[in-house]
Amino acid sequence: MSETPLAAKFDFTNEAVAVTGGASGIGKAVCETFAGQGANVAVADIDADAAETVADAIEDEYDTRAIAIETDVSSYDAAEEMIETTVDEFGSIDVLVNNAGLSTRTSSFLESTPEDWDRSVGVTYFGTMNCTHAALPHMIDQEGGCVINYASDSYKGNDPSLAVYGGAKAANVAFTMNVAKEVGEHNIRLNVVSPGTTETPATAEWIDKYRDKILESYALERLGTPQDIADTVAFLASDAADWITAEVVSVNGGYIRG
Ligand code: NAD
Repeated sequence: MSETPLAAKFDFTNEAVAVTGGASGIGKAVCETFAGQGANVAVADIDADAAETVADAIEDEYDTRAIAIETDVSSYDAAEEMIETTVDEFGSIDVLVNNAGLSTRTSSFLESTPEDWDRSVGVTYFGTMNCTHAALPHMIDQEGGCVINYASDSYKGNDPSLAVYGGAKAANVAFTMNVAKEVGEHNIRLNVVSPGTTETPATAEWIDKYRDKILESYALERLGTPQDIADTVAFLASDAADWITAEVVSVNGGYIRG
């Protein structure tokens, strides 16, 4: 039997967590959840005002620090600057949540353009690589850390409008598994959370249009909430998941490929 009580394994006091795309939807819930467990949080987003609003609200509600960092994760320099700012402000980077992701928003692959691919893959896959590459040297120096990357049901196929985005999510899975091997000896874990359809600003319009049809694909017959995903992200980053790395965890109410 472990000597550490389970609740203590979810204590992130004095740990520094950076969340990309932290100003909205799932990322916002992730920021709030870590703050609620005592972490200092960097809300890293391309939308500076929204990030500031989230960081201010966290500092009002929780006894932790929260900072807003304007960043575009598709740029390596910006990603590196974001990580450096986090380390300068908090003294470490213990958890990196590569939450930012973007779909092409075209109804089929053939309709999409190379510009769409650059945008979607730039944020969804290059964003993950950029931030991870910038954070890992710090985690190696600290001899520990945790990275959570994102997939989605789209990487399992069946939706032409998500071909490019789904490809980038599949790339995140392969990337995570391979890098986990490289840095495991430094007590660094990398995992993937794969959300099903979750109600956020990104999906609101689409869900409004197709709610009943979407629900048919889910065994639990409800859509996800940002908190459903944030809880799993916090679990994967916690000491309760100490021996989990290079893994993909689907949080999707039992997605049945239609
Ligand atoms: P959202 O649109 O509500 O939030 C995304 C945030 O990312 C926004 O605050 C946006 O400003 C920020 N962002 C966009 N481009 C950025 C960039 N270049 N650099 C930094 N920040 C940037 O999205 P969401 O629905 O909360 O999705 C969060 C993650 O979950 C994404 O990776 C998404 O692919 C994944 N996901 C979502 C769903 C869903 O149904 N909502 C399903 C599967 C996977």
